Amino acid sequence: MSKTSIYGLTFEQLSAWLLERGHKKGRASQVWEWLYRKRVTTFTDMVDVNLDCLKVLSENFTIQTLTEHTKQESADGTIKFLFALADGDLIETVLMRHKYGLSVCVTTQVGCNIGCSFCASGLLKKDRDLSSGEIVEQIMNVQLHLDEVGKGERVSHIVVMGIGEPFDNFENMVDFLEIVKDQKGLEIGPRHITVSTSGLAQKIYEFADLKLQVNLAISLHAPNNELRTRIMKINRAIPLEKLMPAIDYYIEKSNRRITLEYILLKDVNDQKEHAEELAELIGDRRAYVNLIPYNPVDEHSQYQRSEEKTVLAFYDTLKKNGITCGIRIEHGTDIDAACGQLRSKQMK
Ligand code: SAH
Ligand code: SF4
Repeated sequence: MSKTSIYGLTFEQLSAWLLERGHKKGRASQVWEWLYRKRVTTFTDMVDVNLDCLKVLSENFTIQTLTEHTKQESADGTIKFLFALADGDLIETVLMRHKYGLSVCVTTQVGCNIGCSFCASGLLKKDRDLSSGEIVEQIMNVQLHLDEVGKGERVSHIVVMGIGEPFDNFENMVDFLEIVKDQKGLEIGPRHITVSTSGLAQKIYEFADLKLQVNLAISLHAPNNELRTRIMKINRAIPLEKLMPAIDYYIEKSNRRITLEYILLKDVNDQKEHAEELAELIGDRRAYVNLIPYNPVDEHSQYQRSEEKTVLAFYDTLKKNGITCGIRIEHGTDIDAACGQLRSKQMK
């Protein structure tokens, strides 16, 4: 079996692993410094680390397992990376530029089994989960690219919104969050991290209990069960009666507001009555609705993007009904922006 990436170990896991082999805690700190601050990509570059320690590390781990397959840069500075995993599968990672910083959208699974009717990622069934190391590596590869460009830019934000359902790869995703948040490493503020889920209620409770302080976004996309089941078949197993209490639990435990994502699909869920019904469903919950312009996917030709005036009218209706909301700014529309699009084109 090929070696896994050392990026996949939390600081505590690496410390414990080294301790079992007779290396004290200070060694783990040294190794992390090289990995995340000086950002070397071979063990031999860690010149001041004890040689026995480096030997045992390199016998059991590698640093990089991903290779860059293609990279597309958009006019607005968005960069979409397609990485090949060690076993040949392809995944997508996107770097976006905002006023407030640089965010990276990471993939958590190869394909997705949830199979939402509008999504390009769900076109390809899940092959496997990504390891925590493979998720961290996406951030590191983007950061190494920025280091190479040499402007001193840092990845400041993370959105777990690439291919896959993060709550269907829960443990690896949580390890990933612990690693990127760690103040000894990349030190990305938890409030700068957002995880998006299609609404696996049971996992939302578990996630709330972990108190990780990261933002949670729920792909809601419809104001009632009938419509939600039509566009997201997961709603059959986990209808709103199960999802809404999980959302309430998260809001209460985290003492934070939740983001509700709502893709606007022309004539499907974008009418005034849908906005009113959505406002009623949300009620006085601490929620922020993110209205998302639909990115057309060739295979899902039954859906079109809502017209701009419809989007604005939907927004106005929500506002009038006391709902906090915004319209998502799009990035990289000239480069197969919808998650999973670039990959699904390459795999054809
Ligand atoms: N599986 C998770 C996270 C990945 S999808 C989830 O579903 O939440 C991230 C976001 O992109 C979700 O809100 C999803 O509904 C949205 N999305 C998927 N396909 C899209 C498309 N074609 N256009 C716009 N948004 C899309
Ligand atoms: Fe999977 Fe999310 Fe796409 Fe649904 S929207 S198919 S859960 S990646």
